[in-house]
Amino acid sequence: MYNNSLIALDRAHLIHPVASYRGHEQQGVRVLASAKGATVTDASGRQLIDGFAGLWCVNAGYGHDSIVEAAARQMRELPYATAYFGLGCEPAIRLASELADRAPGDLNHIYFTLGGSDAIDSTVRFIRYYWIAKGRPQRDQFISIEQGYHGSSTVGAGLTALPNFHAGFGIPFDWQHKIPSPYPYRNPAGDDATSIIEASLAALRAKVEAIGPDRVAAFYAEPIQGSGGVIVPPKGWMKAMRDLCRELDILFVADEVITGFGRTGPLFACSDDGIVADFMTTAKGLTSGYVPMGAVFMADHVYQVIADSAGASAVGHGYTYSAHPVSAAVGLEVLKLYENGLLENGIKAGARLMAGLEALRDHPLVGDVRGRGMLAAIELVSDKKTKTPLPAEAQASRRIFDRAWDNGLIVRAFANGVLGYAPPLCCTDQDIDAILERTVDTLDQTLEDPDVR
Ligand code: PMP
Repeated sequence: MYNNSLIALDRAHLIHPVASYRGHEQQGVRVLASAKGATVTDASGRQLIDGFAGLWCVNAGYGHDSIVEAAARQMRELPYATAYFGLGCEPAIRLASELADRAPGDLNHIYFTLGGSDAIDSTVRFIRYYWIAKGRPQRDQFISIEQGYHGSSTVGAGLTALPNFHAGFGIPFDWQHKIPSPYPYRNPAGDDATSIIEASLAALRAKVEAIGPDRVAAFYAEPIQGSGGVIVPPKGWMKAMRDLCRELDILFVADEVITGFGRTGPLFACSDDGIVADFMTTAKGLTSGYVPMGAVFMADHVYQVIADSAGASAVGHGYTYSAHPVSAAVGLEVLKLYENGLLENGIKAGARLMAGLEALRDHPLVGDVRGRGMLAAIELVSDKKTKTPLPAEAQASRRIFDRAWDNGLIVRAFANGVLGYAPPLCCTDQDIDAILERTVDTLDQTLEDPDVR
């Protein structure tokens, strides 16, 4: 009864993100009620393993009392402090300093936001400011990658390259350009690392040439393309692209909103890739989803140009909730948890997850298995030889998500037949094994479904 009335209220009043409104009205909401570790409980009392850590954000896992205490303590002491007017508060200052200490290279300046989309939006503003300050205002063109995701703000959604973020919204803008994805499983250049890297380098050079000399401001890349379907570029790809941007005098933005905070193993994927970006964007794992927060990391050399150019004037970019004390207090506690065992556990659990998924390669539906650390995917196809995707009209993804749910597993079922995994880093061996077993059950049941194959 409780649940039914919530479903009706939801249908009447709550607009869901990235949803078919009509489809959702028909289906009705599934209400989540509580969670502990990697297990969530719905409003009817059913327990499910959260193989996706909410929306790849609850990296620490659910139910950490120390995080709750940190937030409560801060709320009691000082629930809000503006960072305008030269004011500040201890947790935000300390978190900025701790993050700068751990960031690769000279990414020493931190700008706090509310999440990933406004972190991306902030980089676009800072980058325009930077080039104008350098006396090259014509550097106002931006390049990102097909199947990339950079948020849902108007500007960020134009850098995002997923069709339903554009259709009907009148974006991308004409200053937003794309190059092909370095997608090893479906790449016209072939599937070997050298060919894929060379193709991406050639594509970026050609795009810059086509846009015009001294016109490109920045290039955006995710170390692993998350929302595009967990696309893992070959080793060396990030480094090659970063080096080319330096050669072409283009700023390089590494979007670590998903990959940051232990998702792929280390605190930042850029560390493994051996690169230092000019900007790094983060969110999600920064506060492990307990409260909203994002962070833009800005390199020293960019900061100095902006600061010198503004001089005594204000750089007019800010949010009411920039550097929010409660979010910062949570961020500090989450960082402690990562470094007191969670990162280590994530690496161990990630290896178990990857090995288990690799063992599914022989399954008749599995065309590809890919991932790094606790970020992984299997790509389902109806014909492994031809790599034919599952039939879109059969709503295969929705049916697979529903089936996994019935099996007690939450995974991300992307529209293109990709199943995405991003479990909390706290997963035990039993949690990982449950994720794998429930995946096998789901795949076997899908195999029996004549409409999906
Ligand atoms: N960048 C990337 C790489 C993301 O994956 C996301 C969110 N999935 C964003 C930006 C936007 O973050 P948010 O949803 O917190 O606004």
